[in-house]
Amino acid sequence: ADQEAATRKASSIELHGLHKRFGADTIALDGVDLSIRAGEFFTLLGPSGCGKTTLLRILAGLEEPDQGTLVVGGKELTEVPPHRRSVNTVFQSYALFPHLSVRDNLAFGLKMRGLPAGKRDARVDEIAAFIKLGDLVERRVDQLSGGQRQRIALARALVCEPDVLLLDEPLSALDAGLRAQLQVELQRLQKRLGMTFVFVTHDQDEAMVMSDRIAVLDSGNIQQVGTPSEVYERPANAFVARFMGHENLFAIHAREDDRVQTDIGWLRLVPGEQDSTPGDWLLVRPETLEINDTVPEGYNHLAGVVRERLYRGSRIEYVLEVNGHALMVVASNLGQRVHQAGDAVTISVCPEDLVTVVA
Ligand code: ATP
Repeated sequence: ADQEAATRKASSIELHGLHKRFGADTIALDGVDLSIRAGEFFTLLGPSGCGKTTLLRILAGLEEPDQGTLVVGGKELTEVPPHRRSVNTVFQSYALFPHLSVRDNLAFGLKMRGLPAGKRDARVDEIAAFIKLGDLVERRVDQLSGGQRQRIALARALVCEPDVLLLDEPLSALDAGLRAQLQVELQRLQKRLGMTFVFVTHDQDEAMVMSDRIAVLDSGNIQQVGTPSEVYERPANAFVARFMGHENLFAIHAREDDRVQTDIGWLRLVPGEQDSTPGDWLLVRPETLEINDTVPEGYNHLAGVVRERLYRGSRIEYVLEVNGHALMVVASNLGQRVHQAGDAVTISVCPEDLVTVVA
């Protein structure tokens, strides 16, 4: 199967100037340009209503853009109907036939394509073995667990060997443990198949753990495209920073040389490295901060008071009050001194860990 993966065709996707409106005043997509590489695990991430599903439906051919073009594998697809595209979709609701066997569910698409029965069976057995559900093929779908159904839905989308697989929040109905397990499985499967995956989610952790690259959307516009670490560590703007879960984001009120004034005080940046103007934001990642009596040379220091301590097992989260503002600090739980609510503490802030973010 690995050899097969290496030679399997994968398609790149080019989207240019996509616009989509619903009615008079809903702009679902407001001029989207995107290049997705062949064989990439690409995720569309954004809050509810940002246009993720609309973009996916346009790729599938279920929705027509008002303007713009769509090229998949070098072929202009904008006018091609859904069933003529080598694109398949896995939806959140499994969309399986509950009273039919797994085999009949998997064979359905192949039958529609006119594949003879003998070949259908062979393909079904092959794909079922591939996703490790070989012993379930004769079972009825309504006798399977949620996680097994989701894997069958995936297998059904894969069995016709599309060039591109679209996945619309396929894991969101599953409980946390199963979801985490399928995240890993799905990512492995994609790498083995070498197929292009376009995955939709509103969950930034899920996006980071699975994707080669992520596009963050807001109100029908792409805010940033990058690898998980680029998007998390260098958010393009304050929206992306907040959406990626950053809480320590402080407005920059003034700048003098390499120092910026924020709500939590004056902080020195790395000389000449960070561009910023008043109105921008300073991102202070909680895991880069240290509560310490002695501040390392070259570090900023802030004075604060512990307001809350959250025990998370592997780590401890502190909510500190600094200059009347909340500052989150994440400390490892390895032989560190534990601070109590009410303790006055000193926080070390390394200039290299500070990131300026445009508004
Ligand atoms: P969610 O995560 O909630 O599914 P989304 O990011 O997928 O959201 P879309 O479903 O693409 O968002 O919707 C984008 C915007 O277009 C929303 O304001 C939505 O209400 C609107 N919209 C989507 N489909 C239609 C439709 N068929 N008719 C009218 N408005 C629609």
